[in-house]
Parts: sequence; C-alpha cells; structure tokens
Amino acid sequence: PTTVEKGLGFKGHDMLAPFTPGWQSTDLHPLIIEKSEGSYAYDSNGKKYLDALAGLWCTALGGNEPRLVAAATKQLNTLPFYHSFWNRTTRPSLDLAKELLETFTATKMAKAFFTNSGSEANDTQVKLVWYYNNALGRPDKKKFIARHKSYHGSTLIAASLSGLPALHQKFDLPAPFVLHTDCPHYWRHHLPGETEEEFSTRLANNLENLILKEGPETIAAFIAEPVMGAGGVITPPATYFEKVQAVVKKYDILFIADEVICAFGRLGYMYGCDKYNIKPDLVSVAKALSSAYMPIGAVLVSPEVSDVIHSQSSKLGSFSHGFTYSGHPVACAVAIETLKIYKERNIVEQVRSIAPRFQDGVKAFSDSPIIGEIRGTGLILGTEFTDNKSPNDPFPAEWGVGAYFGAQCEKHGMLIRVAGDNIMMSPPFIMTPSEVDELISLYGKALKDTEEYVKE
Ligand code: PLP
Repeated sequence: PTTVEKGLGFKGHDMLAPFTPGWQSTDLHPLIIEKSEGSYAYDSNGKKYLDALAGLWCTALGGNEPRLVAAATKQLNTLPFYHSFWNRTTRPSLDLAKELLETFTATKMAKAFFTNSGSEANDTQVKLVWYYNNALGRPDKKKFIARHKSYHGSTLIAASLSGLPALHQKFDLPAPFVLHTDCPHYWRHHLPGETEEEFSTRLANNLENLILKEGPETIAAFIAEPVMGAGGVITPPATYFEKVQAVVKKYDILFIADEVICAFGRLGYMYGCDKYNIKPDLVSVAKALSSAYMPIGAVLVSPEVSDVIHSQSSKLGSFSHGFTYSGHPVACAVAIETLKIYKERNIVEQVRSIAPRFQDGVKAFSDSPIIGEIRGTGLILGTEFTDNKSPNDPFPAEWGVGAYFGAQCEKHGMLIRVAGDNIMMSPPFIMTPSEVDELISLYGKALKDTEEYVKE
C-alpha cells in the first residue's frame, strides 16, 4: 500500500492520537472505561483489558483496592472538606505531610506543600524557587534549565519546563526564563565509539557551558525526571546524574527531582532519587501518592530552602500561593492509606521481585526488525519503533506504526500509551507473575501484527 493507505483504516479511537486533549464532544468516539479490577479495566461493552499503563502511570495498587475506598468513605463521612490556608488545616493534611516526608530518605526533607496534580507541583516549584532567591536578595537568579524530551505537566509553566515541542508550539511557550539542555538518551544521541560515561561527561559539559553562557547568577534551578516518562521512557546513562549534580552544585543551582512517575516504587526503589543517588533540594510527586484514587500532588522542600522561606517571610510577606484543594482531606486520607499499604506490603520489594520478569520478557522482543530500542527499569518500559534498528531511520510518520501497535494491543485486550512511534508501559505495582506473562504474550501478538503491517 501507499503510505497514505497505510495511515488509514486503523485509526481506532481518538485516544490513540499523539496528544490527547481533554475535549469532550459528541463527534468523538472514545473508548469508554467503565470499571476496573486489580490489573484490569473494562470498557462500556464489557471488554476486558490488561491495564499495562496503570491508568496514566498512576494506579499503582490497581483498580479496586477496598482499603482506599474505605479511607475515602470514612473521611467523606467525617469531614469532606476544609481548607489549608493561613493557620488552618485538617488532620489528614498534617498526617500525610509527616508520613510523606518520612518516605523520602535520599536527603532530609522538611516541608510538604500539597497540590492537586503534578503540573501544579511543578508550577509551585518555580514560585518557591523564585521566592527563595528573592529572600536571599538575588532576584535575578530566575532561570530554569530542563531537558529536551522531558515532561513536567501542561499548565503554562509546567509545559514550558517540558521539553516536548507539541507542548510549546502554538502556545507561545516556553516562557523566556526556561532553557532546555540535552536529552540524555544514549542510544539516540551518542557519538560513534562514545561510551555511556563519556556521553554523560559531554552532556554535563554542555550543561556547564549553557550555565556559563547565560551567567550562573541568572540560573535558579535544574529540573529532571529520574527516568523520563512521557518523552519515551529514557533511562539515564551511567554516571549522568553524578556529573550533572556536580555541575549544578558548583554554581549554586537548586536541583528539582520530578518524581511524579518514578516515586513510591516504580523503579524498584522508593524514589528514583534512591536509584540514581540524586540529592535534590526539591521534589515533585503526584500519581501513585494516592494510587490515583484521588487527585493529589506535593512538593517536598529541603530544610535549607524552607528555612530561608520561613525566616524571610516577615520581611518579604508570606509565600502567597496555594489552591482551594491543597491538602484536601479526602485526597490526603486516601494518600495516607496508600503509603501505609506500600509499607505493609513492602511494595518496593514486590516491584523488585516482578520487574525482571517484565523487563526480560519484553526485551526478548528486541530483535524484531521494526524495533529500534526497548528500554526501561523496574516497572516502566518503552519501545521505540524504527527501521533498520537505527535511531536515524524513523518509519514515515503517516504509517503511524506506534499507533498501529497501540490499536493492536487494544484489539487483543491491553491498554498502553502511544506517542508517535514510542509506546510505553508502566503496569500497576500489584501485577502478578501470570499477569506479566499475559502482558508479554499480548505485546508479542501486537508486535507480530505490526511487523506484518510494516511489511505490507
Ligand atoms: N511530571 C511528570 C514526570 C509527569 O509524568 C506528569 C504527568 O504525566 C506531570 C509532571 C504532570 O502531572 P499531572 O498530569 O498530574 O499534572
């Protein structure tokens, strides 16, 4: 078939569009998910799917954890809402802050600031960092450095921090105070003969050069996901975070870890920072914080940063920021129960025990002629489809190879994420060995269909 024919006839649902907006309209025909149970979701026709993306990288405890439902119901029956502004708050909000801060051990974190989402957490980071630098009498230290291909959310500032062109084009973004540095994707960007360590050194040097060019006195913070998620599941090359941290430290630049996907066990560590030995000043979390049963995110703030903010607030005025639903008691009650379950069930160990089966099982398909690279760690994994096994030989975009694979997964009964010719999976932490085997088998079927489609 011609490329045009290849691009037609498999479009499936609107959910497979590269960027799925939240528009609802009568002329769309989305897949409607009606029920979830453990690692499975069911559509409005009763069809069963293995939820290989855990909702949107978030329902870590699967679809029907009764303890989370009970925690929400109990809180709804006691105090469905009170705010956390000025010197008022609720018990769940206070208790969650304490529990959450204790889960982070890579460095000490002193304060938590609650939001409703990861995007709001990252917007909050920018305001915190600016307030901090104002408090230190250096208001010009304002710029943020993020990485190409990163995803930090879709509000104006979080979208600016993100390094995905689709989030910038037509929105007059990124904001002028946001700069982007290299994406640490070794397979795609390394030079011939360059080792991972050498690649990391080159990227750290590029980062340092960018800082020097802009003037270190103008750079406030560097933000990074330990493993890049929506950009295609990009794991950092050896020594990358060690080298990048040394550079930002040298110039008194804060390090923000965006743990929205990685936190709470996804990588087989409580935080991505634990796996990669990252010592951040600030951390963003959301998603698995409540296993997505209620919308909630948070920023964790180091004592150094929070001390400056608190000690200067009488002079500068309070840190005037917050949302009606910051610290929402029902969301906090659910998050407290989620963290309790993670601890009781030793969720990190559980992820570690299942991860090799998942990683090895899917990576066994690496030889497929249409797969460029399969990459991942713990319970997160991405596949990039390319021709000739080369990062430089993409399939024609009109073929929609990634979308075709996604549609085949859906046909066979599995939900994944598609972004161009990258497809991504991040199963729930509770996935059983037999469910992992089923995932691998469904992946194999969709791959076989996609290989035939490409050959046609
Ligand atoms: N940061 C990362 C790393 C994410 O993956 C996401 C969402 O996928 C966000 C931030 C934004 O979170 P939210 O969609 O809750 O605003």
